[in-house]
Amino acid sequence: MMLTKGAKMYEGKAKILYETDNPDRVIQYFKDDATAFNAQKRGTILDKGVVNNKISAAMFKYLEAQGIATHFVEPLSDREMLVKRVQIIPLEVTIRNIVAGGMAKMLGIEEGLVLKQPVFEYHYKSDALGDPLINDDHALALGMATEQELRLIRERSFQVNDALKAYFAKRGIDLVDFKLEFGRHKGQILLADEISPDTCRFWEQGSRRKLDKDRFRRDLGGVEEAYQEMLKRVVG
Ligand code: UDP
Repeated sequence: MMLTKGAKMYEGKAKILYETDNPDRVIQYFKDDATAFNAQKRGTILDKGVVNNKISAAMFKYLEAQGIATHFVEPLSDREMLVKRVQIIPLEVTIRNIVAGGMAKMLGIEEGLVLKQPVFEYHYKSDALGDPLINDDHALALGMATEQELRLIRERSFQVNDALKAYFAKRGIDLVDFKLEFGRHKGQILLADEISPDTCRFWEQGSRRKLDKDRFRRDLGGVEEAYQEMLKRVVG
């Protein structure tokens, strides 16, 4: 690989981005650090970085094969992938198939209700504000994205949901909900960030056993085991 790892560009809660000698390419390094509730709860999950890197790489590859453009270029190591440099749009998109987490709380509904159709949401990406729920008018009026970008993001997100739901169903997993981030790269909108048990809720079909970050958020125990189980289902 003719590529040199350069300076640290950005360090987030779960990942570090490094520059490379190619201005269009960035190395995404996955840490074991875990945070929840706006980083009020902190900890580490052993080998989470390895699991999330491998699951994300597999998901991006799969989605690319389904015609969805992503920032993924290639895996580099256990914890690193090469990605296209993007300018992240400051919106966290979530799609929900089953009620859980924030939606259960906001609407006073019990977790586990299977929705009649998927629910698409935008959250403004701001740790200081706790990623508040917004609608497309907020995003447009504040210049976070254009109408065309929002249309594309919504369309792609539903495609991702259909593809991922089918992928995980084959592996005995219900995709409850998930968060996506998109970025701009040379005039294109690319799916970016990660797709992992940190950013998706995965329930084992039938038992509804949680196999995602809720085990950490809610102190349910068996956190590392859940991440390893998801990796096994993805690669196995
Ligand atoms: N999520 C995420 N990052 C966030 C907030 C949520 O990846 O900052 C994911 C979360 O793992 C879940 C989905 O987005 O799969 C929906 O989360 P929700 O809005 O219910 O918020 P939470 O309950 O995590 O506070």
